[in-house]
Amino acid sequence: MLPYVCLFGVILPAERRPVGYDGNVHTRSMILVSVVIAVVLGVAVSVFLHEHSEASSAMKKPSITIVLDAGHGGKDPGAVVAGVKEKDVDLAVAKRVFSLAKEDDRLNPMMTRNADIYIALGDRAQLADEVDAALYLSIQANACDCPDVEGIETWVDEIHSPGDPSWQLAEILQSSVVEMTGARDRGVRSQELYLHSTKRPAALVEIGFLTSKEERNKLTDPVYQGMVAQGIFEGIVAYLSYIDRSFSHP
Ligand SMILES: [Zn+2]
Repeated sequence: MLPYVCLFGVILPAERRPVGYDGNVHTRSMILVSVVIAVVLGVAVSVFLHEHSEASSAMKKPSITIVLDAGHGGKDPGAVVAGVKEKDVDLAVAKRVFSLAKEDDRLNPMMTRNADIYIALGDRAQLADEVDAALYLSIQANACDCPDVEGIETWVDEIHSPGDPSWQLAEILQSSVVEMTGARDRGVRSQELYLHSTKRPAALVEIGFLTSKEERNKLTDPVYQGMVAQGIFEGIVAYLSYIDRSFSHP
């Protein structure tokens, strides 16, 4: 027989066993009590830890939602030049911007599409209203009948006036992407676009011309796509910092 009885981690010498100690009956009831207390303590601790982790994740919860749109998709390829479909370039760059934004705790990025599907233009822009986004940005590639034309330009819907948030977003973005890529700066432009479907600040960045052979080669190069995406991401952060001083660079 063992000289000690172990209860709640306290080892009692055999001679200090409770008076009336009766082998099996007492041992079993003590073990049962121990198990019940251990289970209750375990549940209490796990509830505490769960609430604590929820509280800390709530503190870190991204608060600024941004909507990123990859232009075209599905039945709508956008411009198609030398086998390169604009919708694929748009999606590749938009996904990279999304990944960069996802790594930033302050941002909650959403994409209008993350696959080769078609979504109506109005629905894309209205998503920004539905999720109360801080901004809507469509990412597209350009094309024209002029193979020598190249460069980056950012568009704003004509319902906006220079100086309003959409123009600020477009100007900050434009200079950020141009600075990052070294591409020709074609400036911020305005015309009637579907972007008036959202009340949120909205812009459309044309990241280069697929009709320029040199720029088309760059736009299909993952390294250059990464530079464009970095420029767009930094432009978004710079714009958000500009409109909200509490949102600064990490
Ligand atoms: Zn397009």
